[in-house]
Amino acid sequence: MKTQAAIAFSPDADLEIREVDLADPGGGEVRVKMQACGICRSDLSALEGKETVEFPVVLGHEGAGIVAAVGPGVERVKEGDRVVLSWTPACGLCAGCRRGEVQLCEQVNMSTGSTGPLTLDGRGLDRFMALGAFCEQVVVPEAMAIPVDSELDAIHTCLIGCGVTTGFGAAVNTAAIRWGESVVVFGCGGVGLAAIQGARVAGAARIIAIDPIPERRDAALRVGATEVLEPVGAVKQILMDTQGGTDVAIECVGSPATMADSFNVVRAGGRSIVVGLPAYTKMLELPGFMI
Ligand SMILES: [Zn+2]
Ligand SMILES: [Zn+2]
Repeated sequence: MKTQAAIAFSPDADLEIREVDLADPGGGEVRVKMQACGICRSDLSALEGKETVEFPVVLGHEGAGIVAAVGPGVERVKEGDRVVLSWTPACGLCAGCRRGEVQLCEQVNMSTGSTGPLTLDGRGLDRFMALGAFCEQVVVPEAMAIPVDSELDAIHTCLIGCGVTTGFGAAVNTAAIRWGESVVVFGCGGVGLAAIQGARVAGAARIIAIDPIPERRDAALRVGATEVLEPVGAVKQILMDTQGGTDVAIECVGSPATMADSFNVVRAGGRSIVVGLPAYTKMLELPGFMI
C-alpha cells in the first residue's frame, strides 16, 4: 500500500515527507495506523549521525495507534485494538528473554538497514529501532505492538513506548529503590521525569533532581522531586547535605561527565544507574579506587 513517511535523507537534514510503499503484514506481523509518536532524544541523536542508522532512515520509536490489519498466525492482537509500539520484541526465545530480562532481548535492533517492509521508489528504507514510527502506517511483529486498554489518548500512551518505561523502570526495577531511600536524578527530560515518578512510587524519602533548565526543574517538583538543583556544584552540595552521598543515582543525560558524577554522588555501597544514551564513540572514565 501507499502511505506517507517523514524521511531523514542525511545527518542533520530536515525530515522530508514522502509517499512510500509499505508491504502487507507477513506471518506474525501486524499493520498499525499511527495516531501519535513522541520525539525521543535518541531520535535526535540518530538524526545527528551519532547512532547506528543507515540513511535514508525513518525515525520514530515512541508510537501509539490502532491495529489496521493482521498477518497470518497473529494471536495477541486483532484489528481495531489500540496498541503502543515497543522497540523490544520480547521474542521469548533468546537468553535474555528466558532470564526474564526482556529489555535485553537479543532481537532488539537499532537499525533494520535497507531490509524490511518500507520502500521509497523501490529502495529499502531503514527503520530506526525496527519501528520507523514517523510514518502514517507501520508493519511490525505482533510482539512489538502491545495492546493497551486505556482511556488515555494516544499522545500520552505513546510515551510509554520509550521514555516512561525507560525512566520508571530504571527507578523501580534496575535501581530497585526501597522505601525511605535518597535518590538523585540527573536530567529532567521525559526519561528523568519518569525516573522521578518511579522513585516517588517506590517510596523514596528524598528525591533530588538536577537540570540546568528552570522549566524542567519546575516539572520535576510537580511530579515528585523533593528538591531541585542546577548542575554546577550540585554533586559537592549533595555529598555535604547527605553526609557522604545518596543511596541511588539515576543518570538520564547521556554525557560521560554526568555519568561520572552519578558514580561520585552515591554513598559507599550505593547504586548508580546510567540510563542516558551517549554517542557510541564516547568513553567513560571513573576513579578506580572509589569503585
Ligand atoms: Zn527512546
Ligand atoms: Zn528475546
